[in-house]
Amino acid sequence: MGQDALRTSGSGGGLSTTAAPNGGGRGRGLLRGGWQVQNTSINIKIMILCGFVTILVLLATVSIGNLGSSNADAVNQNLIKATEPILAESPSVSVPTDLEEPPKPEVNPPIALEEPPKPEANPPTVSPKPEVKPNVTYTLGPKITDWDSQRKVWLNQNPGFPSIVNGKARILLLTGSPPGPCDKPIGDYYLLKSVKNKIDYCRLHGIEIVYNMAHLDEELSGYWTKLPMIRRLMLSHPEVEWIWWMDSDALFTDILFEIPLSRYEKHNLVIHGYPDLLFNQKSWVALNTGVFLLRNCQWSLDLLDAWAPMGPKGPVRDEAGKVLTAYLKGRPAFEADDQSALIYLLLSQKDKWMEKVYVENQYYLHGFWEGLVDKYEEMIEKYHPGLGDERWPFVTHFVGCKPCGSYADYAEERCFKSMERAFNFADNQVLKLYGFSHMGLLSPKVKRIRNETVSPLEFVDKFDIRRTHEETKP
Ligand code: UDP
Ligand code: MN
Repeated sequence: MGQDALRTSGSGGGLSTTAAPNGGGRGRGLLRGGWQVQNTSINIKIMILCGFVTILVLLATVSIGNLGSSNADAVNQNLIKATEPILAESPSVSVPTDLEEPPKPEVNPPIALEEPPKPEANPPTVSPKPEVKPNVTYTLGPKITDWDSQRKVWLNQNPGFPSIVNGKARILLLTGSPPGPCDKPIGDYYLLKSVKNKIDYCRLHGIEIVYNMAHLDEELSGYWTKLPMIRRLMLSHPEVEWIWWMDSDALFTDILFEIPLSRYEKHNLVIHGYPDLLFNQKSWVALNTGVFLLRNCQWSLDLLDAWAPMGPKGPVRDEAGKVLTAYLKGRPAFEADDQSALIYLLLSQKDKWMEKVYVENQYYLHGFWEGLVDKYEEMIEKYHPGLGDERWPFVTHFVGCKPCGSYADYAEERCFKSMERAFNFADNQVLKLYGFSHMGLLSPKVKRIRNETVSPLEFVDKFDIRRTHEETKP
């Protein structure tokens, strides 16, 4: 299978941190291959699910056991405890194929959303087959051309839903995961931790959050799912100024840091990356589409329309993948992915788009995990939250770890251990407000860090993140 070929050729995906310090590393060669071979891997998945006892033994003896500390044992026990009920409950154990297969296309193909079918004199008794129009470029929906004025009118008519609240633009953070269970139960455990981390961040910073598990458009499955979902949210929430996409495998690791929105007043897309890698090297990891902000405006709808056509799964995505591999430096051969497609679009139509794109690298809007996770202790010793850059990374993104999938570019044990560390590193910042801390970066257990008091309000004044953030702004 192409898996091995991708594995060897995929080294370009994991951008070394020396090439661009913790740059746009996106170990996609193998993992994208993983998506590609999803169907052929179903048999493997079934075997894995049927033999879930083996997984548990594996977890107990290999995954965490090598961490070699008593904390590691605690982690191990907790992971097993946490995964057991999931396995017991998971319908995938009894009917794995049903759940693992992507849902079949519905009776109404996506195209029907654009043009409601005309009533027919003699409606067919059998469901019509999806209409295939190979020469029609794929669209996300009916072309909207006046969204800015439509939205402005709506905002004027709905003063109860302002786009700016207390002087801050309204932000909606969007994240999500596949509709079915993860290939490994431990993957679901980390999805939960990841969303807990995001809920904490959003709660503390007054950001709304949406978790999506649906493939709104069958054509745009997998990593392309974010496109139709972002568009849908823009149109359904005209009061939201920014949609902030964040991958499920990315964690907030600086709970204090706030996006410097005023910097982006003249921009519509904010994305982490490096202009040199983008314009001079045409690197496929010049930008990272795991975390980005998109303004709710006509420009963004146009961008999504221009971005989507490489996404439809099957021949279109496969063929587009060849174009992207030929065009972008370091890109292994595999189907078109959203990140490469965006880089390609921005490079090939630079004049049209770049003026409104802010390529951010002054802080880690996306921070490639490999160069960061082993330095957390050093960061704790030397620095403090609120910095957002390499001293205390705003986001740690586990590119290539595929916590919810089967194929990863990195060893599973290393990925989950690193995710555990990142999660606890961040969670300590949340727990501090309540007077607790994790026993260590690998321990789910917590300890008290201060005594209870009869006058607790002084701690509120001292530790409330919403206040301290003002003082620690970079
Ligand atoms: N995703 C989703 N639904 C799916 C598959 C993926 O919402 O069916 C999201 C999920 O949040 C995931 C992201 O798409 O994190 C991109 O995939 P991934 O993080 O695995 O790619 P990588 O960052 O490793 O290149
Ligand atoms: Mn990711």
